[in-house]
Amino acid sequence: MVKRKIMNTQKNKVPVASWLDYDFFKEEQKAIKCLTVILRTAGCYWRKCTMCGFWQESADVTQTDILDQLEYSFKKSPDEDFILKIFTSGSFFDERGLSSDTRREIVRMVNKRKEIKKLVVETRSEFINTEKVTELNTDEHLEIAIGLETTDDFIRSKYINKGFSFNDYKNAAKIVNECGATVKTYLLLKPPFVSEKRAIEDVIKSAELVSPYSSTISLNLCNVQKYTRLEDLWKKKYYRPPWLWSAVEAIKEIKKRREVVVMSDPVGAGHIRGPHNCGSCDSMMKAAIKRFNVTQDLSVFDGMDCECKDVWLALLRFDDLLFGSDLV
Ligand code: SF4
Ligand SMILES: [Zn+2]
Repeated sequence: MVKRKIMNTQKNKVPVASWLDYDFFKEEQKAIKCLTVILRTAGCYWRKCTMCGFWQESADVTQTDILDQLEYSFKKSPDEDFILKIFTSGSFFDERGLSSDTRREIVRMVNKRKEIKKLVVETRSEFINTEKVTELNTDEHLEIAIGLETTDDFIRSKYINKGFSFNDYKNAAKIVNECGATVKTYLLLKPPFVSEKRAIEDVIKSAELVSPYSSTISLNLCNVQKYTRLEDLWKKKYYRPPWLWSAVEAIKEIKKRREVVVMSDPVGAGHIRGPHNCGSCDSMMKAAIKRFNVTQDLSVFDGMDCECKDVWLALLRFDDLLFGSDLV
């Protein structure tokens, strides 16, 4: 018992994960290094979204633990300019996870490091207000990510169970923009009960509607996380994660229509629980999407082909009749 407590105390001092990668820095129109940190916190209070298993990363941590985790992650800081993303598997502005004192200390820690050119945090819309956003205004650029998932209130409330409306998002996004920060909007490709074709149409339409509020759109390709309601559906063969062809199609259309940065981290790509095609072309597709993220250049998708593309096209053609059946 005592041993377990000591192990938990040590675990609480390190983040769930942290890694160095590249990201597109819109303000300078080029890719720069990006340190992503997933802090271990009390997690999301909502815990009701059908596809989300992030609550499994929550822990009983103190505010000091959280600051220690961030300090620990800074060991990976590059010597050159970089973007810092701080995620909490919940909401950065939720007092139950991070107190305002902790947030202020984070601002101090960020301001001390001149190499940090941009700070990105994520939150549910109900926690956004002028005071909290202003308080977080660091010396450099601030971006607030909001998981809207879709502009369709029916899909969001009935199939995802998100618990806030498109109007709530718009009000929150306006506050962020008025405070001089930018908004990154997460859209979900293929929520449960939405067929492949309708899912593509939904993210393209959603991207159009959120563009006036967002400087970045992050297209999240739905994956099947453990112990979620989506996993139950998937096990019963009522759900297949999106095809990577669908992701590419959506990225192309969104990018062609709007002057917005489009990102898509293909989490779990090529795996049965993640977005996938036939198995042969998954790595190629994943690599192209990652290349697009840092270049924003649609020509990375030129000439991509595989035999499975015809199957995907047929699926879209018969989509209304098949209603997302697990064909392949
Ligand atoms: S709001 Fe975000 S973190 Fe919370 S349950 Fe929904 S998807 Fe998960
Ligand atoms: Zn293929």
